[in-house]
Parts: sequence; structure tokens; C-alpha cells
Amino acid sequence: EPVLSMRGLSVDYLTDTSPVHAVDDVTLELHRGEILGLAGESGSGKSTLANAVARLLKPPALVTAGEVLYHPAGGGPVDVLRMSPKALRKFRWRELSVVFQSAMNSLNPVSTVGAQIDDTLRAHDTTLTAAQRRERAVELLRRVGISADRVRSYPHELSGGMRQRAAIAIALALNPEIIIMDEPTTALDVVVQRDILREISALRREYGFAVVFITHDLSLLLSMADRIAVMYAGQLVEVGAARDVHDVP
Ligand code: ADP
Ligand code: ADP
Repeated sequence: EPVLSMRGLSVDYLTDTSPVHAVDDVTLELHRGEILGLAGESGSGKSTLANAVARLLKPPALVTAGEVLYHPAGGGPVDVLRMSPKALRKFRWRELSVVFQSAMNSLNPVSTVGAQIDDTLRAHDTTLTAAQRRERAVELLRRVGISADRVRSYPHELSGGMRQRAAIAIALALNPEIIIMDEPTTALDVVVQRDILREISALRREYGFAVVFITHDLSLLLSMADRIAVMYAGQLVEVGAARDVHDVP
């Protein structure tokens, strides 16, 4: 059962010369609660696909064909590419959030990690009291391996691994059904990377969200992903169970 489905999705970058077909006729489903690995060499279109689905594309990127449907639990499908601004405000963070390769793209450098979770909660869930938000911030940080004494830390006071954990905590804050992770561990050393991958799997089991985990390193996905999709030159060239997908072109 899909939580998100893409059909015939194409995205071009309109450059001065000829357009770059960054995503070319991609049809792909994300199943509810699964970890879907999205692999492919650098430049194959993974980030463009992710940003299209999250409605974070900026010019000169343009969706030229296809559709993206979000399937809320117990509701009819919603056309993501045609969502109203109001629907979009609810979709982001509450239903889908993104963790980028650089935590600095997700974190605000002049605000503590606790305050950033608090801000995210306050902006999207007005039913929580200040005390409830504070409690939830501490709990979320603990879940991703950041102790309570770090709640008042600024991003620059944390290691790269801790910053990425904080970005994951913020992405989890509103309990979304879909989390897109775009090379979230690529900049980290191998040991930290392995720990974070294990924790993402554990968090997924606990919270039940679906993950699109993007990486150019197929080997990372073999142990964590339920299914793997491989892109090459903008096209989807392989989709299958992790054990059946062996090589990236
Ligand atoms: P990946 O995430 O797999 O590394 P990208 O989605 O970043 O791939 O890039 C897909 C293609 O789109 C590449 O050919 C890349 O050069 C091109 N591209 C990405 N961003 C831009 C941009 N802002 N302007 C023009 N071309 C771009
Ligand atoms: P702006 O400068 O308008 O915030 P962005 O491109 O950073 O532009 O963000 C556009 C919208 O997408 C904002 O509403 C923001 O809350 C949302 N957004 C930004 N980053 C993420 C993310 N990592 N996950 C979910 N939604 C995001």
C-alpha cells in the first residue's frame, strides 16, 4: 500500500543552452512504513526527484510532466504538485519532512537545537503548551542520542554527527508519515554513519514512518533498506528488494 506515488514524473533544469532532463519519466511508489533506498551515481537525478516530491524545487527547475500523489491514511489521494499554499503548509513537516546532507541546511545557526524543535512544534501544532513542547524536544533529542544537557547547544557547539542527529529530531518532531533523507550521513565518518543508520532503522520501527534514503553508496543500503531503486541519467533503471539489487551502472 503506497503512502506516496510518482507517475511519469519529469523535471528539467531550464538553462541558457538546452534543458537538462534531470528526472525523466519516473514511476515509483513508496510503501507505507518502508525504507526505500534511492541509489545512483552523482548527477543521476536523486536530489531533484526528492525536491520535486517535497515541493522544494526552485527555478530553473521545472516539473514538465507527471504527478505525485500523497495517500493519507484513511483518505483519498492528494495531488502534491497542485496543493494549495494552505495544504502545503500542512504537508511539510507534519506529513513529510526532509533531512539534507548538510545539517546546516536544516538547522538555524543562531538558535539552540531545543529552541528549533520548539519553533517547529509551535508553528505546526498549536494545541501543545510550552511545557509540552519543551518535554517533547528533550524526548526527541534523547531518541536520536542527544542528552538533555545539549538541548541548549547551538549547532556549532555540536559535532557533525550530533548536528545531523538534531536535524533528524526536528524532522521527526511532528511525527510525519514520510521522511526523505538526502545523503544524510555522507559527510560523516564511517563509524558515526553506521550508528546513525542503525538508529534510523530503530526509529522507523518505533514511529512507523516511511523513509526515502538517498545515497550514491549502494552498499550502505543493503543492510537497512527494504527496497532499493536505482537511478541513472534521470531514469529509474532498477527497483527491487534489497537482496536482488546488485549493481549501480
Ligand atoms: P544527484 O542527486 O543524483 O546527484 P541531481 O538531482 O543533483 O543528481 O542532478 C541531476 C542533474 O541535474 C545533473 O545533471 C545536474 O547537473 C543537474 N542539475 C542539478 N541542479 C541543477 C541546477 N540548479 N541547474 C542546472 N542543472 C542542475
Ligand atoms: P523559505 O526561504 O521560504 O523558508 P525554503 O525553500 O527553505 O524557503 O522552504 C520552503 C518551505 O519548505 C517552507 O515552508 C519550509 O518550512 C519548508 N521546508 C524547508 N525545509 C524543509 C524540510 N527539511 N522539511 C520539510 N519542509 C521544509
